[in-house]
Formats: sequence, C-alpha cells, structure tokens
Amino acid sequence: MKDCLFCKISNKEIDSNIVFESDNVLIFKDISPKAPVHLLAVPKEHISSILEIDKLDSRLLKELMEAISRVAMEMRLDKEGFRVVVNTGSGAGESVNHLHFHILGKRKFSWPPG
Ligand code: AMP
Ligand code: ZN
Repeated sequence: MKDCLFCKISNKEIDSNIVFESDNVLIFKDISPKAPVHLLAVPKEHISSILEIDKLDSRLLKELMEAISRVAMEMRLDKEGFRVVVNTGSGAGESVNHLHFHILGKRKFSWPPG
C-alpha cells in the first residue's frame, strides 16, 4: 500500500535490519528498541490490523508464528521468556497501521503491561 512504512520496508524501498525473511513474512529490528532484543514480525502483504480477519488466512498465520518461534529460538529468548505484543488502535499505542508483532526479549517484563 502506498505510503505505508512497513510496506516500504517489506519491498525494500526503505532499509531495515532484517533478521528473517520468507515468501510472505519479514522480521526486522525495531528502530527504537524497548528491550535488548526488539524485533517486528510483519506479513509482507499489507494487512492493516489484526481486525482485518478476511486477509488473515491460516497459512499466513502459521507462517508468521513459525517465523516468530524460529527467531525466538535462534536468539535463545525461550530460556528466560519473551513477549509478543500486537498493539491495536491508538489507545493501545499503535502507530503504524500495518499488522506487526513486537517480539521483545532479554529483560524482565512486568504484568499487567503499562
Ligand atoms: P506500534 O507503535 O505498535 O505501531 O509499533 C510501531 C513500531 O515501529 C515502533 O516500535 C517503532 O519504533 C517502529 N518503527 C518505526 N519506524 C521504523 C523503521 N523505519 N524501522 C524499524 N522500526 C520502526
Ligand atoms: Zn503496509
């Protein structure tokens, strides 16, 4: 989609620090990390949010979860625990309207989140 930051990152119009890529999924480092490990997993296709359920078929969701799991294991986040976050809507802190999963690790996390 035109003027979407994560579409531009997905099609390499804008540089990012990519840690995983498959046909339909990209995982790259967050530019403003909130933890020692802070990655963003996105579908390459523009899906505006988790509410756009018609575009979220089970194959894509599996590919996303497999990618997140694989990177988490590769970075050894599983031992201490890690957090996967989807902010949805401005009230939850969402600032980019292209579905993205934050993957945060290598620090302690409190619950409930702020
Ligand atoms: P959210 O606020 O949940 O929509 O998350 C958007 C995230 O995108 C924030 O954590 C930003 O730091 C991150 N971000 C913004 N611009 C870039 C960029 N050019 N490359 C990587 N991450 C970015
Ligand atoms: Zn997009």
